[in-house]
Amino acid sequence: MRRRSGAALNVVMLGPPGAGKGTQAERFAQRHGLPKISTGDILRDAVTAGTDLGRIARATMDAGNLVGDDVMIGIVEERLARKDAKPGFVLDGFPRTVTQARALDDIMLNRGPLVVVDIVVPEDVLVRRLAARRICGSCGSNALVEWTTSCGKCGGVLIQRTDDGEEIVRERLNVYHRQTKPLVDYYSQRPTFRAIDGNQPPDVVTASLDRAICQASTVADGARL
Ligand code: ADP
Repeated sequence: MRRRSGAALNVVMLGPPGAGKGTQAERFAQRHGLPKISTGDILRDAVTAGTDLGRIARATMDAGNLVGDDVMIGIVEERLARKDAKPGFVLDGFPRTVTQARALDDIMLNRGPLVVVDIVVPEDVLVRRLAARRICGSCGSNALVEWTTSCGKCGGVLIQRTDDGEEIVRERLNVYHRQTKPLVDYYSQRPTFRAIDGNQPPDVVTASLDRAICQASTVADGARL
């Protein structure tokens, strides 16, 4: 997708755990040469590295709860200030609360509108997907046990995320309904908001996402004129 105006393409991916945000954000970001910024990945890296942030985040994540808004806003503000995010970015996992969304609007002042995509998937499908989800112990890529037994990217051994156990998944979905779903109301009246059916094969979702973002970014360009 070539931006007519050369303006930044600032994308936010919304959706419940298991909707496919991470996979789709990765594909979109790669194809369009934008950084994918996943707060879940940033926190998991911090846990692995044993940093102060990792120590704060670990217990919260393992319980299926959200890390504090101030911590998350600080991380994202710092990340979005880096040079590679100037031409745009794909945010995966942030914002997750209305407080985070308001802070993001402040950060984005003078950086152009956000294109917000909500990936919609029925609850029973989410539960099934999360139970079957594995990540590569070496490179962290997502995989589904139904489809594969080793990592398609590096051949590494697949493991279950510590927060993908059944009980924790239920709690993460509760947290999603309480704290993150209100973001759909927060954004849905904006002309650059799009909802996508995520209950389709991954490549089909990728194609509809591309179309939706392309269309919404044209609207965003219009808003800038
Ligand atoms: P999911 O597949 O559930 O969307 P993520 O990989 O995005 O999971 O995030 C994993 C965990 O990291 C969350 O359950 C939460 O504890 C923490 N986390 C990630 N992003 C945020 C955020 N923006 N605010 C608070 N906590 C977050």
